[in-house]
Amino acid sequence: MHDLRNWASDAHHSVDDAPYGGGPGMVMKPGPWGEALDAVVPLAGPARLVVPSPSGLPFTQRMAARYAGEPRLIFACGRYEGIDARVVEDARGRMPVDEVSIGDYVLAGGEPAVLVMTEAISRLLPGVMGNAQSAADDSFGGGGGPMAGLIEGPVYTRPRVWRGRAVPPVLLSGDHAAIARWRRDCALRVTAANRPDLAARLAAGRIGVADSAAPSGPAGLDARDRQLLLEAGFPVSGEDVAH
Ligand code: SAH
Repeated sequence: MHDLRNWASDAHHSVDDAPYGGGPGMVMKPGPWGEALDAVVPLAGPARLVVPSPSGLPFTQRMAARYAGEPRLIFACGRYEGIDARVVEDARGRMPVDEVSIGDYVLAGGEPAVLVMTEAISRLLPGVMGNAQSAADDSFGGGGGPMAGLIEGPVYTRPRVWRGRAVPPVLLSGDHAAIARWRRDCALRVTAANRPDLAARLAAGRIGVADSAAPSGPAGLDARDRQLLLEAGFPVSGEDVAH
């Protein structure tokens, strides 16, 4: 971690100034940012610069997986109204630069956005999670697994009955195929209920395009998947809705 004020040149170590063109708020000055990057970028090998910004590309599980395979990432956290645009232009001259948004809302600074991104990226690094398979089974198909384009359904642990509520019996059946099917049913239902955008994409056959780590998504939807999506109001394209 580096403190931008180390590269501020004036007595007050100021890193912001009023915006050209007027308007409220302050803008981060290009000078300290340029010098900070000049100092930090050469410290180790080649790097990608990630600049959190509400106007950036949406951060997805697929992006997290791609970043987990990069040798080095540098994050440049903005404050106030953001960083003078010439800083990114200048950095693009020497390294790949991504402006990335963690969601459609505005934070006061980039730090919590970078915390979110580094948490999503680091759990995909080999050895970080106890069971590598759990990434593949995650919502959005973290490992390019069968969950591509889907969000995960409910999970349970002991005891078998808690406050009068029993665990769904299929989970105790030992029938792995039935359990996998039940989990997929739940995932399809919860996706349709909570993420109609993902369900619509799934039904249109556009899974794995934006949300999956897999380049082309899973093998496709079987008859049961299509039936569940239809029941939830998402007829799969090419299906005869009358049936
Ligand atoms: N005026 C800007 C908002 C600046 S918020 C606008 O309307 O687009 C200040 C800083 O917080 C940004 O420079 C960025 O680093 C960070 N930030 C705010 N919202 C963010 C989001 N959704 N994703 C990533 N970073 C965000």
